[in-house]
Amino acid sequence: MTDSPSPTPQLDLRSEITCPHCGHRKVEEMPTDACQFFYACDSCGAVLRPKAGDCCVFCSYGSVPCPPVQLERQGAGAGGCCR
Ligand SMILES: [Zn+2]
Repeated sequence: MTDSPSPTPQLDLRSEITCPHCGHRKVEEMPTDACQFFYACDSCGAVLRPKAGDCCVFCSYGSVPCPPVQLERQGAGAGGCCR
């Protein structure tokens, strides 16, 4: 936890994905211009897909949602993503 003030909206391009099957965690870098729909777990090989209502695996299993969703939550109104 950092409480340093950030004046500009910040995008976190790294998300720690937790595999729901084996609990394996890995930090992945997210593309800013695309959504990752499939993610293969490094440990057990399971292919993760977004849960219903989520646009990508980072939104479902990551510690940080994908960049378009981050912007939306910050009120930047970028919208879009893959919807
Ligand atoms: Zn796994």
